[in-house]
Amino acid sequence: MTSGRDALQRKMTAYARTGWQGVLNAVFPPVCLLCSAETEQAGLVCAACFERLVRVEKPFCVRCATPQPSVAYLNAQGECVRCEKAPPPWAAARAAFLYEGTARSLVLQLKYADRVEHAGFLANHLKRAGQDILQPNCLVVPVPSHWRRRLWRRYNQAALLAQNVARKAGLVCVPDMLYRAHATTRLSGFSRGARYQEMAQAIALRPHYKNTLRAQHVVLVDDLLTSGATASVCTHALLEGGAASVSVLVVALVPMQKEIDLDSPISETA
Ligand SMILES: [Zn+2]
Ligand SMILES: [Zn+2]
Repeated sequence: MTSGRDALQRKMTAYARTGWQGVLNAVFPPVCLLCSAETEQAGLVCAACFERLVRVEKPFCVRCATPQPSVAYLNAQGECVRCEKAPPPWAAARAAFLYEGTARSLVLQLKYADRVEHAGFLANHLKRAGQDILQPNCLVVPVPSHWRRRLWRRYNQAALLAQNVARKAGLVCVPDMLYRAHATTRLSGFSRGARYQEMAQAIALRPHYKNTLRAQHVVLVDDLLTSGATASVCTHALLEGGAASVSVLVVALVPMQKEIDLDSPISETA
């Protein structure tokens, strides 16, 4: 009886120390974002899921974020052979993860299964991966989605990521700086050139943001970097609109040889 009362008292003291969060955690223990394993805090993945996150580690190309077998594959500026031959329009790119394992599951669920709570976790990793491009006073801008797609998906996952990472880094996010003038057709199976043509007509800068954008450094945020066609079109729109520079920050890098249909996960063959 006494030991029962002692145990209760210990529990109450613990609750008092940790406040309501402690009470909530005792009643509803936080679980992994992906599986049902318990975690220490809400909004995290468990140890097993964490192990299946493949971080983009150095050495990687500073222009396209692609990991390299050794620094010998990078030039003096830190660029890979592909970027040296055909530099992308943006100044730098950083990716938190490779698009596989846990990162792939988190992105797919954020994109298609309304798991908006993943954005906070992924934004922590965007902040880590982008620490040297998230400069003070830069503007954080998401890759836009078309309003018709948003009606169907209800939100733009890139904007959610951009808003979360900007808040965590103490920066300004302009979620609607770019917009899609018309919906693009599904881009799977199109050549790089055809994708670019389709996208170039589709993404534009909202004219009333010209003054906000002038001479600013922009960090363009998206969930994935694949062929770079979308990021190129956004970068051109921002540079033509007066931005001083554009850097690209994404959750996950999709290796070129592993391109997939990112707009219809059903046909995905990753
Ligand atoms: Zn898990
Ligand atoms: Zn590169």
